[in-house]
Amino acid sequence: MSTNPDTSKNSRDTAGNASTRHQVVVIGSGFGGLFGTKALKRADVDVTMVAKTTHHLFQPLLYQVATGILSEGEIAPPTREVLSGQKNARVLLGEVTAIDLAKRTVTSHVLGRETVNHYDSLIVGAGAGQSYFGNDHFSEFAPGMKSIDDALELRGRIFGAFEMAELGATRGDNVDHLLTFVVVGAGPTGVEMAGQIAELAHRTLKRDFHAIETREARVVLIDAAPQVLPPFGQKLGQWTKERLEKLGVEVMLGAMVTDVDERGLTVKFKNGSEERVNAVTKVWAAGVQASPLSKTLADQTGAPLDRAGRIGVNPDLTLPGYPEVFVVGDMIALDHLPGVAQVAIQGAKYAAKEIDGRLKGKPAQEAFKYFDKGSMATISRFNAVATVGKLRLTGFIAWLMWLAVHLVYITGFKNRITAVMHWFVSFLGRGRSERTATEQQIFGRIALARLRRGATDLVSAPGELDAAAERSRREELEAQAAEEVRLTDSSERGVKVSAGKV
Ligand SMILES: Cc1cc2nc3c(=O)[nH]c(=O)nc-3n(C[C@H](O)[C@H](O)[C@H](O)COP(=O)(O)OP(=O)(O)OC[C@H]3O[C@@H](n4cnc5c(N)ncnc54)[C@H](O)[C@@H]3O)c2cc1C
Repeated sequence: MSTNPDTSKNSRDTAGNASTRHQVVVIGSGFGGLFGTKALKRADVDVTMVAKTTHHLFQPLLYQVATGILSEGEIAPPTREVLSGQKNARVLLGEVTAIDLAKRTVTSHVLGRETVNHYDSLIVGAGAGQSYFGNDHFSEFAPGMKSIDDALELRGRIFGAFEMAELGATRGDNVDHLLTFVVVGAGPTGVEMAGQIAELAHRTLKRDFHAIETREARVVLIDAAPQVLPPFGQKLGQWTKERLEKLGVEVMLGAMVTDVDERGLTVKFKNGSEERVNAVTKVWAAGVQASPLSKTLADQTGAPLDRAGRIGVNPDLTLPGYPEVFVVGDMIALDHLPGVAQVAIQGAKYAAKEIDGRLKGKPAQEAFKYFDKGSMATISRFNAVATVGKLRLTGFIAWLMWLAVHLVYITGFKNRITAVMHWFVSFLGRGRSERTATEQQIFGRIALARLRRGATDLVSAPGELDAAAERSRREELEAQAAEEVRLTDSSERGVKVSAGKV
């Protein structure tokens, strides 16, 4: 239960905040976090947004960063810049690791530095991550599509696979596994990703290589469900499948991925048969798991968690017994609301209005009601599907609608202009402006995961630099690196790569 209803107390916390105004802490800078913070612009409150990235990410266009159409900056503007005109808001970098509902504090960490923020009201919008359905080890070889890091890694892997294929083909090797691209998950993200890889191979890159024929690349879209785009209904699903097949995408439905390794994956069909697909590049676009902060909140309130780790909230988006705590967006399980941007945006605006209304002594709002503005997915250039109310649209009209909606929601005038320019280059021409990929983009995630505490292992602790501790840390890292080399050399990881083969 909430223990301290005093909302006017002097809030002094380790973030150095000593204001006497009502303190709102917002966790996350995604659709919920950003729109919630903006909606509090005119309220008599101080807002502290704590997020683990310094940008606001427009996730629906991640696939265009991964396939070289847009730059990461166009879909991920700095939150600090977006909020620079909002005087009552400040932005703090940090991964929230604890929320103490009794003490009303939020604790966050970045590179070993801890910050504790006191709140009078809290909006939690920490979103969801990728789910590998209990097979987290798949992630080493099949990155998800949730962050800028993921998109840049995939960009590197996709363009890198063509490069390695060219290299192998020049030497006379079989490079089929390098020219096979698998996307797991036939929801909107999987469909968009498969369509774009096919366009890349069949159109954009067709004149750029000499030893390989990129048009022969195999693009496979796999899903355990019996249809493509299940939320769009059977008719649009079938239409999308046919368009994908026309583009050259192989669609494998009713196929469950049972194993993933460096060189490919295994799928099992409903009749029990199994098939191995040899593919170096895999994209995981299936399944989501709510932020672990849902569990933190559930443990303290007894609120239920569903299978995707989403927390059950009251109809007004508050936590049972804690009317000052709102949870919004992908983290919540309420009335079967879908995990889409509008649920997060509308929920966050509702929470902000409630906080403002309470301070003004207004009566509580009616229960949160989601207004469904429709859904859409692109298949290729000039081709999309969309549902708006009872309306079902396909083809060019749906694609134009997709274009307009995405332009409206991309944050920042500058980003809208450059995105339109890049779309011209890619959709009217055959170019892609953002094909740059680096080794660090491809291997950085895996390398960091092999450190015990990730990037924190690479910087000194706060305060004085301790030379002896630094030496022993370095020795520890070197020993770890030597072990990694041993594992790789002895082929104890992934699939054995024979000498001289790429
Ligand atoms: C590839 C892809 C395509 C999509 N396409 C569409 C689409 O076309 N249309 C649509 O409506 N929806 C789409 N979605 C879904 C939509 O993006 C989400 O529903 C929406 O982003 C949810 O908003 P949110 O605020 O709940 O979470 P998010 O937008 O994910 O934001 C979560 C925020 O919390 C931060 N965070 C997470 N954990 C912590 C922590 N411990 N401490 C501090 N900060 C933390 C994150 O860094 C991020 O800033 C797509 C999603 C993906 C991944």
